[in-house]
Amino acid sequence: MTYHAPLPDMSFALKYGASLLPALEEGFLGDLTMDDVEAVLTEAGRMAAEVIAPLDRVGDRIGASIKDGVVTTAPGWKEAYDAWRKGGWNGLASPAEWGGQGLPQIVNAACTEMWNGACMAFGVGPLLTMGAIDALDAHGSDTLKRAYLEKLVTGEWMGTMHLTEPQAGSDVGALRTRAERAPDGTYRITGQKIFITYGEHDLTDNIIHFVLARLPDAPPGTRGISLFLVPKFLLKADGSPGARNDVRAHSIEHKLGIHGSPTCTMVFGDKGGAVGFVIGEENAGMACMFTMMNRARLAVGLQGVGIAERATQQATAYARERKQGRATGMSAKESAPIIAHPDVRRMLITMRALTQAARSICYATALALDRAERSSDKAERETAHARASLLTPLAKAFSTDIGIEVTSLGVQVHGGMGFIEETGAAQLYRDARIAAIYEGTNGIQAIDLVTRKLPLAGGTAVESYLGELRAIVEAVNATNDPALGWSGLRLEEALDSLTRATGWMMASLEKDVDQALAGATPYLRLFSVAAGGCLLAQQALAALRLNSEAGARVALARFFAENIAVQAGALERSIVEGGGAVLSADAALVE
Ligand SMILES: Cc1cc2nc3c(=O)[nH]c(=O)nc-3n(C[C@H](O)[C@H](O)[C@H](O)COP(=O)(O)OP(=O)(O)OC[C@H]3O[C@@H](n4cnc5c(N)ncnc54)[C@H](O)[C@@H]3O)c2cc1C
Repeated sequence: MTYHAPLPDMSFALKYGASLLPALEEGFLGDLTMDDVEAVLTEAGRMAAEVIAPLDRVGDRIGASIKDGVVTTAPGWKEAYDAWRKGGWNGLASPAEWGGQGLPQIVNAACTEMWNGACMAFGVGPLLTMGAIDALDAHGSDTLKRAYLEKLVTGEWMGTMHLTEPQAGSDVGALRTRAERAPDGTYRITGQKIFITYGEHDLTDNIIHFVLARLPDAPPGTRGISLFLVPKFLLKADGSPGARNDVRAHSIEHKLGIHGSPTCTMVFGDKGGAVGFVIGEENAGMACMFTMMNRARLAVGLQGVGIAERATQQATAYARERKQGRATGMSAKESAPIIAHPDVRRMLITMRALTQAARSICYATALALDRAERSSDKAERETAHARASLLTPLAKAFSTDIGIEVTSLGVQVHGGMGFIEETGAAQLYRDARIAAIYEGTNGIQAIDLVTRKLPLAGGTAVESYLGELRAIVEAVNATNDPALGWSGLRLEEALDSLTRATGWMMASLEKDVDQALAGATPYLRLFSVAAGGCLLAQQALAALRLNSEAGARVALARFFAENIAVQAGALERSIVEGGGAVLSADAALVE
């Protein structure tokens, strides 16, 4: 099972799916050129294929282990992590002031896809460190930044994210971990967190935990949560790791997938309380954590894209080799590679189309984040922030949903061999499953899209995005190129469904919120297939214009429009008409 970075597809998606080329010309990304971007991606692709991908199997088979609170990663993981961080990949998009390379999020997004395509259990660690860097940089005091940021940026230390407790999963506001003020201005943290990714490990000499906890006089719910930095080792005067803090891993979980990533139960305060330092204001922890989570949500979406890409590569290679049956027109003595069979071709092109649509959505989200951060114009920054906020739930949930669908198809293409661990197809399917659950389940993403993102900027954020998608459809219709088949019409229908469903959602939020919530998941899917179809069509148009691999890109966009975007009508009906059946299904849910 190998992985190679799909550099031409990635580059095309960046340039023409996410519209990076015009953004480079606008100037808000400084003097960065497309050549620079492609040079970075080429190097990252090499690192992903040669250093990270070989970890995937051993991580799955041997996994991480714990003995007396000490967690050991699988053989070869520490050496690979060291090589990766010394290559400067951890700080690719971090501020130069703290030792990072200051590159845009969109470049980091493409690299994140590669780390996770090569080995998702590896990639999940750094993506949390990168989120921690963002939160500390945006909200931390100068003293904390000076003490911790540089080491986090270089990857010498890793960061973790501690939200979940047994009674507080999706409902973060239910958390009970306590923080008491100490006379010296620090805090003492006591409590237990579960499911903490890379909560303990042997990859770095220190681990910097970002922990949500509640002060004794805090208001209830999410308004009473504060964010604390809790290092595994407290720092000596010279900034190096010193005494062990009062935090430890109690155990690690046995999981369906990503065995290489240690998922820890963490205990704070066996000896009176772990020393913590508040990040930002007391009781404003959720806002700080959202800085971390928003980036992490996009990155988890990219895990879905990466693993889908890997499954597609593997299934396509297998389908070329495996011979069964005869293709139409073959003699009785011959047997065809299964890729010749229309049903297998359908599976393979579905895998490819879903992967590339999700990739385009993720990259577009990353570019919106860059514009929100870097544009010199305040109004433009605000509009871009709203765009990034709108697209983040799509990037996270659609990409991870298709990660599961595509890896499942990958198993199917392999037939019985897909179910046997030897081929590695089963591992990809197992690994992909978690990404729809962590960083806010996909159900929670759909609710976020409907209840928080649609109303953004008085509804103008979604309205202007629908306008942009409409312009792509008009351009498709205007080309009249027969190679695009029914694409223009099918995308137009999908967009009409999305527009009507959006109006219905906005109205339902006002008058019957449960109806809106019942339709949230199909609405997110409808939004994603309409947007994904348009972004692929935009790339097909560019390919036709440039005469650059137009055959493949047009075929893919056409397939998506005629076979996947057509689901929009059914999704619209499920949203608008099907909610009643969901809400009145009590009888069907009784045991
Ligand atoms: C391998 C792994 C790694 C993880 N890493 C971390 C980590 O590093 N840090 C961390 O803090 N956490 C981590 N988590 C925890 C993860 O984020 C949670 O599991 C996730 O947020 C869901 O919470 P839960 O498991 O309690 O499920 P629940 O919240 O109990 O949800 C169960 C189901 O109910 C649905 N649901 C819940 N509430 C609502 C609602 N209000 N409306 C509609 N549907 C709802 C959910 O969508 C889901 O389908 C990890 C988990 C795993 C398995």
